[in-house]
Amino acid sequence: MKSSRKRYGSEPNKGAEEDAGKKDEFFDLKEVLWNCLHCLCSREDAGLIKVGPNGEESLCESCGSYYEIHEELPDHRLNLYKYAV
Ligand SMILES: [Zn+2]
Repeated sequence: MKSSRKRYGSEPNKGAEEDAGKKDEFFDLKEVLWNCLHCLCSREDAGLIKVGPNGEESLCESCGSYYEIHEELPDHRLNLYKYAV
């Protein structure tokens, strides 16, 4: 079992400019669909993606950093972004 790290963001120098638009759309969709499992913030607001109790890339930077230190999720951030989505 090899763990492949997903890369987010767009790569310049794609060569074929016609196909570049389609690929950007695909990656953009993935970014939009991601939400922090705890505070529900969007990928845009997350900062770094952190490891949580439910797996890799499940927490935003704020929730993940708290989890690393306290080994529990921050109650004050639970569903913080619920109505911002
Ligand atoms: Zn969060």
